[in-house]
Amino acid sequence: MSPLSTYASQLPEAGLKAALACERTAIIKAVSDSGLKGRGGAGFPTGVKWNFAAAARGDRKFVICNADEGEPGTFKDRVILQEHADLVFEGMTIAARAIGAKEGVLFLRGEYTYLRGHLEAVLARRREAGLLGKGVLGSPLDFDIRIFMGAGAYICGEETALIEALEGFRGEPRNRPPFPVNTGFLDCPTVVNNVETLAWTACILGNGADWFRRVGTERSTGIKIFSVSGDCARPGVYEFPLGISVSDLLKEVGGEGAKACQIGGASGQCVPAKDFGRTIAFEDIPTGGSVIVFGPHRDMLEVLHNFLEFFVDESCGQCTPCRLGNAKLLEGLEKLRAGTCSMAYLRELCQLGETMQVASKCGLGQSSPNAFLSVVEHFRDEIMGRIPSHA
Ligand code: NAD
Ligand code: SF4
Repeated sequence: MSPLSTYASQLPEAGLKAALACERTAIIKAVSDSGLKGRGGAGFPTGVKWNFAAAARGDRKFVICNADEGEPGTFKDRVILQEHADLVFEGMTIAARAIGAKEGVLFLRGEYTYLRGHLEAVLARRREAGLLGKGVLGSPLDFDIRIFMGAGAYICGEETALIEALEGFRGEPRNRPPFPVNTGFLDCPTVVNNVETLAWTACILGNGADWFRRVGTERSTGIKIFSVSGDCARPGVYEFPLGISVSDLLKEVGGEGAKACQIGGASGQCVPAKDFGRTIAFEDIPTGGSVIVFGPHRDMLEVLHNFLEFFVDESCGQCTPCRLGNAKLLEGLEKLRAGTCSMAYLRELCQLGETMQVASKCGLGQSSPNAFLSVVEHFRDEIMGRIPSHA
């Protein structure tokens, strides 16, 4: 990994020191001016989110770092937490100062339990150094962070399911609105930000909004951290400016000759080779950073099978379109692979996928049919070869 620290301030805690030395509104302005958008995948403007939480009424507010990284093919937050935990905690402390929070929680993916000792040690060192606790660095800010372990459910990466789990309930998404910035953890105003987003806020406060904006596009500023896996010579964690074309990214990772790329994880888009000139940016192909490369030999129906089994397992079961829809798509795919799916049934499966996109309660069910629909659209030859000729 080309380290995030390359882009970070040369002076340790420069971001936090700058944030403590200015008004809250100036912190939010710097983050807004940088154009930083949520790095978990949805791309909501971070400055806007912090501004809502700062304006929300309430004596008790929270900063939550969403480290429940569970999207298939996504592993960049694990590396950031391993190598740059200080930047993440610095970002949380800056967020606390910006919105007026005293309490922070890092919600850590259950499968990342092995990171807990390291993270607790970093937190202990920060308390010792006066970077957390009462009167951070001699300022009026009181703020501390605790770690909460997830229990292995993908759905807890959805912010309201995460909050339910944190409150001790079953991890199931809530209806939004109200959004967590107004009614979050324990019904208090809460910002929930991705690990990478928080690390960048520390760099932005330390180096300035213009420093961040100097790369990327007008609507997708800055560097993005990518997890690259699959059929490429050099899988791993990379930093690229947003706006990079799929083909340039593939050259960097040794994935030339790929027939498709899954961008944004299992719930993202399957981009065929003819579209590799498109760019990875919020205005074109958005992503939380996952790129899975498929070489020419890959059976796209096998890929889909893998994704759909995952969604059937991980659906929380709360709403019908997702609970039954994913199971039906998987069943249909199995018919397709067995050569027993008619053209008419395939059309019904596509209609079902489109219904799930609009009728499911949360992002899981809304995005789980994406890969199915894009493979049917872009890999017609592979699909038609499995449809019985009389159908
Ligand atoms: P979303 O667009 O609904 O919300 C994004 C963020 O903006 C949330 O924090 C939400 O509270 C806030 N927000 C949106 N509108 C708001 C408003 N009007 N007022 C205040 N706050 C507002 O997206 P989402 O459902 O939270 O997330 C879906 C994304 O997560 C997908 O893009 C997917 O790619 C990604 N994802 C990432 C992972 C991972 O491991 N990183 C896993 C699963 C999904
Ligand atoms: Fe649960 Fe799926 Fe409905 Fe989301 S869409 S609430 S994961 S059943």
